[in-house]
Amino acid sequence: MPTSILIIEDESPIADVLAYALKSEGYATQCCTLGSEGLEQLRSGVYALAILDVGLPDMSGFEVCREARKFTDIPILFLTARSDEVDRIVGLEIGADDYVTKPFSPREVVARVRVILRRLTANGVSANAAWFEVDAGSARIRFCGAVLDLTRYEFLLLKMLLDHSGRIYSREVLMDAIWRDALDTSDRTVDTHIKTLRAKLKAVRDDLEPIVTHRGMGYSVANGVGQ
Ligand code: CA
Repeated sequence: MPTSILIIEDESPIADVLAYALKSEGYATQCCTLGSEGLEQLRSGVYALAILDVGLPDMSGFEVCREARKFTDIPILFLTARSDEVDRIVGLEIGADDYVTKPFSPREVVARVRVILRRLTANGVSANAAWFEVDAGSARIRFCGAVLDLTRYEFLLLKMLLDHSGRIYSREVLMDAIWRDALDTSDRTVDTHIKTLRAKLKAVRDDLEPIVTHRGMGYSVANGVGQ
């Protein structure tokens, strides 16, 4: 599967030339012209990197970046036309990874993209990384880069399965560990939560089935390559 790059830029000649240059280097691209649209795309979790114009019709690239940082860590490369914007990108910690100033050569942008992605791979955050990342401190779980919006019990359930990915947990074990103190439970409690979890994972990546049902035994979770 090619690495996907999202281009958020309202000037279509610029977006087109970037998309063309990236495609000829083997990347898949998706373009959108509005910041709101870009955020929606980013929530899908399928992109490895975003190229973001500072001046967008509906909101500034800075706002898009700030919003995006609430749910994704993917690298963001800014496109900017003005030096005072560069000061903001560099000076403030808005979560940008790099920037290029307009006018630029598409070649230069492709080179930057390659460097950023290579740096990530070197740090172990590659396409082969685990699907899930658990941050127990903030009680958040990321799936393919996207932060999942989980209820307390969904979080506890997924976290327990992820503590030993591949291990099969019976409904009884899960029930005892997670719903020990809960008042309102039934035989279907585990299954119902598995179902809502699956729906939330599917919303991020509908081509993956991380939660596995073992008939008559229980559930396990797969956590990416090699598991
Ligand atoms: Ca613009």
